[in-house]
Amino acid sequence: MDKKGILIVLSGFSGAGKGTVVKNLMKKYDEYVLSISMTTREPREGEQDGVEYFFRTREEFEKTIAQNGLIEYAEYCGNYYGSPRAYVEENLEAGRNVILEIEIQGALKIREQYPESLLLFITPPNADELKRRLVGRGTETMEVIEERLSRAVEESEGIEAYDYIVVNDQLDECVEEVHRLVNDARRAPVRSQKFISKIREELKGFAKGDK
Ligand code: 5GP
Repeated sequence: MDKKGILIVLSGFSGAGKGTVVKNLMKKYDEYVLSISMTTREPREGEQDGVEYFFRTREEFEKTIAQNGLIEYAEYCGNYYGSPRAYVEENLEAGRNVILEIEIQGALKIREQYPESLLLFITPPNADELKRRLVGRGTETMEVIEERLSRAVEESEGIEAYDYIVVNDQLDECVEEVHRLVNDARRAPVRSQKFISKIREELKGFAKGDK
């Protein structure tokens, strides 16, 4: 089908294990790249600029917005987060599947601008498991965990906007399911426009008796 890569939006509650799923997907298959977002939040211990995020001041972030340097951005728990335009567009053109690990406001903006994007929502099997994973991660204070859990309530309201729900119970199965969904998505007419135009033209040739 078309050679262009698929723009994959991966959302899910904080603590759903999106990061681990993406890491494993990229380790196993080389057609995926992850877009590194820009954010104004403080780096967590061990996080490096240009690896997990591009850490920027609010002023720098707003300048990038003004220069149309982001394909989407949103405010989440008091900080800006956004996806840099150039990296995404260059990789899609080069035929790679680009993953955006972003929250729902951003996902909805992507859907508007890129109707051929694929929106996946990753969730743990139940709410208790979500809390257990957030606490177990040990990177946030209880206050931040509470904030993220109440944010999860809001996010659960938006799940219907996604194409598929992927339950992250067994990591390997979850990774395979994401890969399968992406490959199936390639067959959808919305992502095969070049192929469709080509075969239409060829058929017109027959109809005119050219071949
Ligand atoms: P965290 O602070 O835990 O790294 O991320 C908080 C939330 O922001 C997560 O739901 C994450 O997916 C989302 N996020 C990260 N980067 C972006 C981005 O570029 N745009 C949007 N809209 N959300 C993002």
